[in-house]
Amino acid sequence: MGKVLVIGCGGVAQVAIQKCAQNDAVFSGICIASRTVSKCDDLKKKIEAQGKSRSKITTAKVNADSVDELIALIKSVKPDVVLNLALPYQDLTIMDACLACGVHYVDSANYEPEDTEDPEWRKIYEKRCKEQGFTAYFDYSWQWAYQKKFQDAGITAILGTGFDPGVTSVFSAYALKHYFDQIDTIDILDCNGGDHGYPFATNFNPEINLREVSANGSYWENGHWVETKPMEIKREYNFEQVGMKDMYLLHHEEIESLAKNIPGVKRIRFFMTFGQSYLTHMKCLENVGMLRTDPVMFEGREIVPIQFLKALLPDPASLGPRTVGKTNIGCIYTGTKDGKKRAIKIYNVCDHQECYREVGSQAISYTTGVPAMIGTMMVMTGQWKGAGVFNVEEFDPDPYMEALNKWGLPWVVDENPVMVD
Ligand code: NDP
Repeated sequence: MGKVLVIGCGGVAQVAIQKCAQNDAVFSGICIASRTVSKCDDLKKKIEAQGKSRSKITTAKVNADSVDELIALIKSVKPDVVLNLALPYQDLTIMDACLACGVHYVDSANYEPEDTEDPEWRKIYEKRCKEQGFTAYFDYSWQWAYQKKFQDAGITAILGTGFDPGVTSVFSAYALKHYFDQIDTIDILDCNGGDHGYPFATNFNPEINLREVSANGSYWENGHWVETKPMEIKREYNFEQVGMKDMYLLHHEEIESLAKNIPGVKRIRFFMTFGQSYLTHMKCLENVGMLRTDPVMFEGREIVPIQFLKALLPDPASLGPRTVGKTNIGCIYTGTKDGKKRAIKIYNVCDHQECYREVGSQAISYTTGVPAMIGTMMVMTGQWKGAGVFNVEEFDPDPYMEALNKWGLPWVVDENPVMVD
């Protein structure tokens, strides 16, 4: 049917690309591009050696920080859609290149600057902190500002089609469409019950992950943000097929878009599970300055401590063979239907070892990579279309929900869920 250009070949992209290759009726062409083309070549060889896919796979070298390089690549590959699975730092350059070439854009994480000490960015950031009331480095304002440009160009940008954001956002649209006239509260619960056997490792890009979890928490309540200290709010929850876990309230990007797109919602919170050992390691690294995102001088050259730490930690893409256990990610909704109060939970359980057997990755990459393929498929097949910049909950959730069942992330609706106090 069409060709996708995937930027990035890391943990998440490896799954998304294998899923595109499985779905060769939709993805007849796949170009994989990143700065390290040997990684892209290795993945191409792996898929071709399996001999199961009719997708034509090509690879290319690109530095996605350069709009010119991206434009040249898009012009030579001629994709129908660009799937950005590089880092949030590259969102805007890739959107600019898509605009210049008139090609649809899809990603899985919202924009965040690499250098948070950049004075120009910092001025806008500090204004936003004051006006909006949350201090996370990432937010949607940068990409939502492209709305008119994408409308004028007549092309689609889909933001945030991973699991969270992504599936959790589509779950919300589905709950509103089929279970509620009014949703009052949303609790998003992200549980990783997996064990990789290392004292400390992150399940996706360490730099992005550690920035996210060491930041202040926040939630949306009655039309405004309430900010908390990092890990200040803790709850225990008994997750289906995983068991009892400690979870902590974090700021998370889909809260921002759901607050805008789910009419009249009164409260949205996001919780993620962490073990005590992870938290102790993180606190220690933070205390000694290893989570700093600004450059420091070391033996005559500049290094960014969190990037140096990334080089020391296990590559998340290598955790697949050693990770056992399951993830359970989903949302609890309360609200009213036909004048009666109701509560439901929609969730998916994913087994790390089953993912490894299928695609050679652990479940965090899998639960992000599968929805990245599905969101791209929605655009490629025209099931989701429109000119402008969209979050996934703005489209019809039904074909996406059906695709989750078909492509490896089946979901459950529990009409009598355990609530979070
Ligand atoms: P990795 O670090 O494993 O992979 C990042 C990839 O991007 C690498 O292949 C890297 O290749 C490439 N890349 C980085 N910089 C550039 C550049 N300048 N030009 C071209 N390619 C570049 O990250 P993950 O796979 O763990 O995460 C990918 C994305 O998914 C991130 O944005 C992350 O935030 C998001 N994510 C979303 C989730 C969700 O549920 N929505 C959950 C987990 C992750 P190279 O260095 O060779 O260029």
